[in-house]
Amino acid sequence: MRIFLIFLLLVSSMRSGWADKDKKLEVVVSFSILADFTKVIGGAHVRVTSIIPPDSDPHVYQPTPEVATLISHADLVIMNGLGFEGWIDRLLGATDYKGLVTIATQGITPRTLLDPALPSAPPVPDPHAWHDVRHAMVYVKNISDALIRLDPAHQKDYKARTRSYLQQLHNLDTWIRGKFSRIPQKRRKIISAHDAFGYLAARYGIKIYALQGISTESEPSARQIADLVQLIHKHHICALFSENITNHQLLEQIAHETNIETGGVLYSDALSGDTGPATTYLEFMRYNVTTLCSVLEQN
Ligand SMILES: [Zn+2]
Repeated sequence: MRIFLIFLLLVSSMRSGWADKDKKLEVVVSFSILADFTKVIGGAHVRVTSIIPPDSDPHVYQPTPEVATLISHADLVIMNGLGFEGWIDRLLGATDYKGLVTIATQGITPRTLLDPALPSAPPVPDPHAWHDVRHAMVYVKNISDALIRLDPAHQKDYKARTRSYLQQLHNLDTWIRGKFSRIPQKRRKIISAHDAFGYLAARYGIKIYALQGISTESEPSARQIADLVQLIHKHHICALFSENITNHQLLEQIAHETNIETGGVLYSDALSGDTGPATTYLEFMRYNVTTLCSVLEQN
């Protein structure tokens, strides 16, 4: 009888072991770039849902009740941090989620800037750290650590996928540096819609002026537009780029008035949808750099 009981216990523990092994981790991330990193590292062991879909502006996002339900069923929540998801604390507070919350930018020293609307207020961190590929590597390590912590049974897979992806990111960084190094320094000046590319500018030696601040929440004032027009003339900036998440009309108007070229669309705070050119982070960075360089090489 005793042996039979031990046998039963063994079988049931093996069964639950198998069941856990087959169960995918339910991961909820705030926006599409984190979704791509998590899918790459997690592979078949995770099911990833992004709160903010591709081609959408995270700065103006408003959570819905469905998102609270999604979070309450999650095993892991991953966010960017650095003030990017101003809405997330209230959302987490409104659910009974007690699981792990990973901040993907943990360990990154952010660039900080003054809010042009509040110049006397203390500087705020710039949340768009993923535009520097070295920072993207930190995101990936943080996500990998969180998956390993929650699912140590598959750590070998997570570690192998992380190693291979970090190598791809390293190659991407080298490729980007090579692309920009062929453009003379004095030509590396552009205008973007909002101040999302500060990390790209700092890492790869480009000067990027933005029509709006680090958020898209408020419309640019007449003063900001006038200042930008002046800046275009003063610094001989030759190209202006719109973004997949912002309204193109105002930028086109400025380009028309100042007679500078519109260089195309950059992907700033979201990947493209399935049919677009930036469905993964690697594509996103390659697309932006190719778009920038094709215009800067000509001017
Ligand atoms: Zn942004």
